[in-house]
Amino acid sequence: MAIATVNPATGERVREFDALTDDQLEHKVALAAEAFRSYRRTTFSERAELLGRAARILDDEADGLGRTATLEMGKTVSAAVAEVRKSAAGCRWYAEHAGEMLADQPWPVDGARVFTRYQPLGPVLAVMPWNFPYWQVFRFAAPALMAGNVGLLKHASNVPQVALAIEDVFRRAGFPEGVFQSLLIPSSAVEGLLDDERVRAATLTGSEPAGRQVAAAAGRNIKPSVLELGGSDAFIVLPSADLDKAVDAGVQSRTLNNGQSCINAKRFIVHADVAEEFARRLTERMQSLTVGDPTKDETDLGPLSSADAVETLHQQVTDTVQAGATLRTGGEPLDGPGFFYPPTVLTDIPDGSPGHHEEFFGPVALLWRAADLDDAIRIANDSPFGLGGSAWTTDPAEQERLVTEVETGMLYLNEFTQSTPEVPFGGVKNSGYGRELAAFGPRAFVNAKTVWLA
Ligand code: NDP
Repeated sequence: MAIATVNPATGERVREFDALTDDQLEHKVALAAEAFRSYRRTTFSERAELLGRAARILDDEADGLGRTATLEMGKTVSAAVAEVRKSAAGCRWYAEHAGEMLADQPWPVDGARVFTRYQPLGPVLAVMPWNFPYWQVFRFAAPALMAGNVGLLKHASNVPQVALAIEDVFRRAGFPEGVFQSLLIPSSAVEGLLDDERVRAATLTGSEPAGRQVAAAAGRNIKPSVLELGGSDAFIVLPSADLDKAVDAGVQSRTLNNGQSCINAKRFIVHADVAEEFARRLTERMQSLTVGDPTKDETDLGPLSSADAVETLHQQVTDTVQAGATLRTGGEPLDGPGFFYPPTVLTDIPDGSPGHHEEFFGPVALLWRAADLDDAIRIANDSPFGLGGSAWTTDPAEQERLVTEVETGMLYLNEFTQSTPEVPFGGVKNSGYGRELAAFGPRAFVNAKTVWLA
């Protein structure tokens, strides 16, 4: 895949970038290792000061940075600017809190002072996706740099300008040279980096196949890794739910980021008593959304990230309908330049069809009718994924059963799943392992060293 900016709203190839040569890559890895030797000795307050400056740059330049994301991956400008501001807030949050999270942790032992000291590991390779091209990077980088690690970013090949802009933000914030570098490299170069002893750990957010390969390479080299992979999150609606709120949240969650978020609500599992009413209202609301130019204020849904993304999604929809699902709205790619797919609703999803077990990365809602709570939990768990999930009920006994029995890394009750610095984030099953954010983020890539002082 070429490293290039292609505007998904027009299909125009805007700019191509050369991949780093082997020598250039070697130079950058050497620089990271060198930078780590001195950066690891900086104090939390020095790191916090630098991260605070990065936050100010992000806030001051949110509009321009946001527009770069819109140009490269098609999210609406308002969503892109909000993402840059959220990244600024994430930097500020970690500048304030990471020091406490990484403070020495004492253990009660008679006659000795025993504690854990959290020490950085070194250069961490971050393989990141295009869908939240700022936030995904900052949610790794802010806690990792506060812990004293240095970052090497291999960003998705379709967001090179965002990758370079992020490196530039860290440089202008005053981080020493080599503490955060963007590597314009193809994914085929990742394995070699993991074989390099100077790279000490890896984190990947992206698809399951990419996750498998990176985890295998990290495992072979006995290096820790964190994987945030895809999801097919359930959105369970039970009869006691406030249906207006559930429909609002369902539409918002399914279409957030043009339907291309790992934690979008994807499988709507609705109790039979309210299933038809919910399907009718959700379909009406999906139909009312404005699809178009992501730079216009009135646009709700911009394009998908690429022509391939449209093709994959459309194939999944077509195969699911052919297997017997009912198409309520949408279901055909939109004409014209650009990679647009309409809001689509499918009901009666057959077992074994793509809708049943694959992630749909675009604005397609898949609806199931559940006979009762047991059936809803069974359907929710009948997925290879286990990232987030959302359930709507005001009954405390039902809430408790959902918390206990739904097999996901996150469950939001009467709210949709979100990613925010103060709350841990991550999944189980094929959605990956490890956790980001909250106190897990700074502790993801550290040596938790036991110290015994007699
Ligand atoms: P990918 O997983 O292909 O891309 C994510 C990152 O991984 C990119 O930087 C990519 O680089 C890199 N990568 C891809 N393959 C490998 C590999 N074998 N070894 C090392 N690095 C690799 O996601 P796509 O953009 O292709 O999206 C496809 C699907 O992934 C989506 O439909 C969705 O299901 C899922 N996805 C999930 C996301 C999430 O937030 N959980 C985010 C994005 C995608 P390069 O761009 O150079 O290929």
